[in-house]
Amino acid sequence: MVFTLLLVSNIPSLTQPVDALSYVITVDEDGDAEVRVTINAKFLRAMGIGETWLAVPRGERIVWSFTDGRPSYIVSPLYIAPGETNIFYNNITISTLEYDTISLRYSFKMASLIVDDRALFLSPLIMIDDKLSGKLAIRIKNVAEVNEYSVQPQQFSKAKDNINVIFTLPLPSGRVWISYNLERPLSFDEIVIDGFRGVVPEKYSAYMRHILMLYSDLSPNMTELFKVRPENITVRFFLPRTFYEGVDGYVPILPSGLGDININIFTIRMLPGIMEHVAVHELIHHYLWSAGIDEDLLWFHEGAANFFSIYLLNNIGLRGVKAVEDSLLAVSQNVPYPAGFIVGWSRSSPTHNPTLYYASSYLVFHTLYKKHGLNLFEDFFAYLNKNNVSIRETQDVVSIFSMLSDGATDNTFRRLGLFADDSTLAGDLRDSQFLLFLVFSLAVLLIISVSALTRLRRSGEPYVESGDFPSYVG
Ligand SMILES: [Zn+2]
Repeated sequence: MVFTLLLVSNIPSLTQPVDALSYVITVDEDGDAEVRVTINAKFLRAMGIGETWLAVPRGERIVWSFTDGRPSYIVSPLYIAPGETNIFYNNITISTLEYDTISLRYSFKMASLIVDDRALFLSPLIMIDDKLSGKLAIRIKNVAEVNEYSVQPQQFSKAKDNINVIFTLPLPSGRVWISYNLERPLSFDEIVIDGFRGVVPEKYSAYMRHILMLYSDLSPNMTELFKVRPENITVRFFLPRTFYEGVDGYVPILPSGLGDININIFTIRMLPGIMEHVAVHELIHHYLWSAGIDEDLLWFHEGAANFFSIYLLNNIGLRGVKAVEDSLLAVSQNVPYPAGFIVGWSRSSPTHNPTLYYASSYLVFHTLYKKHGLNLFEDFFAYLNKNNVSIRETQDVVSIFSMLSDGATDNTFRRLGLFADDSTLAGDLRDSQFLLFLVFSLAVLLIISVSALTRLRRSGEPYVESGDFPSYVG
């Protein structure tokens, strides 16, 4: 009889469902947040559920809202696939037997990332037992207007510059993002280190300083390798329109040369090493361009930018760099071999499969390095510098490497599919027919580049997949 009463009073009715748990995320003016989770343990007990679990960030202190004691719980790795655990989150399994209501909270820095007057809130991973339902309330300060949601909210309200948005749990992909405009933009900082300039919202100054210090530390090595030192380098963070945009960095190509280095601000929340990789990758585009590599020889630019950024950063031992290298090598294992198809890759002839093209281009430099060593690259750039040669065609690259290595690289390029055996252009660079071809192709390129002035060079991360939230973001 008692049981019957208990059940009647606790079982959710169709008109008024009871939430097994609720999340409240409060985001302050500059994007930092506090996450509070409340578990309706009494309700779960009545349903015969003695424990429940959720994802919590690793390394964040969990604060329980009890003056005396805390519930029994176990923290374990959060599995995202058999044998594969999430880097940023743990599973916390909590007993529902000891209290009626269990609340816990943790802080979540940089929940919203902000550049100029735009912000993008990306929730922490909100994973719960998917048999349960609940609510997620997100309260954000300093909002002028909301632009877009990843998931349609159940409710929305706004009072002055504070918004309150409510979603139903569980979320389809465990996350939600909200793009909005700020009522009061954050102030900017300008930092110059060793001639490298950074323009950054003050909130992220430490990250910019870190990037510029890295540039300063690596620039002697890069000048040694590429035999040039590009000037007037400015770095900025950009905010993608949505979290799915999938571009981690870019350098615009302007009539006067290459523009500022733009780094996706979400790299701040990624595995250590990814932001550094993107920053150095983009800087290498400037070195390559200054060394005379045409911006439309994309396989060379992207292959070299990835290879040398990984080569230079591997010594620092950041996990994210190793992850980038492993991912490129894993993709390149499945490359249709030989990889000659990358030769035609240009801004006017972009690819629908950038992952494959980035990986194949990387493989060319990786293979050259393994077979012929780093000195050959140094000789190559020294040759360009000494003879004031610009490189616009794959055949130029193959010919110069061949000349510098007494033909030793021919077989490597042949196996990679980049050696044109029967081409009349192969061989002597001073061949008049070759020069004629260069002039002609340059004219074509000029026409193309005028029509493509506003287009940006994409430096896609090989493992950004659209469709689902990647597991390497915290
Ligand atoms: Zn790139």
